[in-house]
Amino acid sequence: MSEPLVVIGNGMAAARLCEELAQRALGRYAIAVIGAEPHLAYNRVLLSSVLAGDVPIADTLLKPANWWRDRGVTLRYGAAATAVDIGSHKVRLADGKELGFAKLVFATGSRPIRLPIAGADLPGVLTFRELSDVALIAKAAACHSRAVVIGGGLLGIEAAYGLAKAGAKVTLVHLMDRLMERQLDARAALMLKAAVEAKGIEVLLDVATARFVGEDRVEAVELKDGRRIATDMAVVAVGIKPNAEIGAAAGLAVNRGIVIDDGLLTNATDVFAIGECAEHRGVCYGLVEPVNDQARVLAERLSGRQTHYRGSVNATNLKVSGVHVFSAGDFIGAAGTESIVFADPGLGTYRKLVVADGRLAGAVLYGDTSDAPWYLDLIRGGTAVEAFREDLIFGRALVERLAA
Ligand SMILES: Cc1cc2nc3c(=O)[nH]c(=O)nc-3n(C[C@H](O)[C@H](O)[C@H](O)COP(=O)(O)OP(=O)(O)OC[C@H]3O[C@@H](n4cnc5c(N)ncnc54)[C@H](O)[C@@H]3O)c2cc1C
Repeated sequence: MSEPLVVIGNGMAAARLCEELAQRALGRYAIAVIGAEPHLAYNRVLLSSVLAGDVPIADTLLKPANWWRDRGVTLRYGAAATAVDIGSHKVRLADGKELGFAKLVFATGSRPIRLPIAGADLPGVLTFRELSDVALIAKAAACHSRAVVIGGGLLGIEAAYGLAKAGAKVTLVHLMDRLMERQLDARAALMLKAAVEAKGIEVLLDVATARFVGEDRVEAVELKDGRRIATDMAVVAVGIKPNAEIGAAAGLAVNRGIVIDDGLLTNATDVFAIGECAEHRGVCYGLVEPVNDQARVLAERLSGRQTHYRGSVNATNLKVSGVHVFSAGDFIGAAGTESIVFADPGLGTYRKLVVADGRLAGAVLYGDTSDAPWYLDLIRGGTAVEAFREDLIFGRALVERLAA
């Protein structure tokens, strides 16, 4: 008899877990996946490219319906899980149904943080997380000419780019003094700002949003310094919050996310959490690579292997056409580390590598990012780089040629 395994959430973590499990233990579990969104699981990472018109919606589908069917996975999408009773091993759904489980996985992801300021609920104030948001933003961009994007992180920049490409006049407003401050050092961020402005996007740094102004829908964004930016829509991309409330209500330990150990296990027996809803060693990740790492390790454990998840290296690529930016690991350089920097303003190229204890600890690449996968491998593998350190900044091709 197959053991009933229920997965709450039908996003990227759930899809990867089912794929990894199907490869290792097909038939061992009767899997049911519960999804709040009324779609088959899709590749959320591609939403920026859909908004920019570079990728059709159809290409975001992760697996067709028959893929799930063929692997015996029951999909219940369009009905959220509303409560979990860990004692009686039951999940309650919004449509009133109940599902029993032997093992339960939370894969509920996260949601956009909404600004706690006046006017945040006005029509035309949008967020950017789901397929339905893309439709709303694209529709607004098609009939309106002005847009304000709040948040100069990866998501905000990609939203601003998509809107500008759709023909909107875009202002990007950011609280910090540089764009993507969590991924880029000051120099790379300055180059990025120039490239974003060259796309026709106005960038305002070091500014806080005071309120949204409007009667029936948003008409302006007012800044704390008193300035008002007239607009027809606003997209808020200021961060994410793990969807951990159902877990907390069921008695799971929750800090920012649902707390898990190296076995992806919560504080309840047979209840696991993976993806953006989970907090591992104090970290809630917001990228897909850690989600995939966690899904693989959990699939191995559910198949009987005692593997462990030890954490992931954060690595980011910006998806704005013609702007090549990569960042991974400790890109600022903690005390005791050394930085190797190469810059060619003429070519628009910048590289910074951070070396700690003879190993590459972090990298920022701007302009030419072709060596990003190699640097990432070196960081992830903890490879000793002293033997080729003097050539490291020039990339893989030179290092390998000299070694041959
Ligand atoms: C526009 C955009 C661009 C991105 N670009 C990148 C990128 O370039 N690189 C990168 O690494 N990452 C990127 N990300 C982040 C990446 O998409 C996430 O890290 C990844 O989707 C997380 O997977 P997840 O399964 O944990 O969460 P999600 O993919 O969000 O899936 C969670 C699912 O659970 C559902 N759910 C929540 N609560 C319930 C409930 N109670 N009952 C049922 N279902 C529920 C949600 O509706 C959702 O469908 C991007 C994200 C966005 C929004």
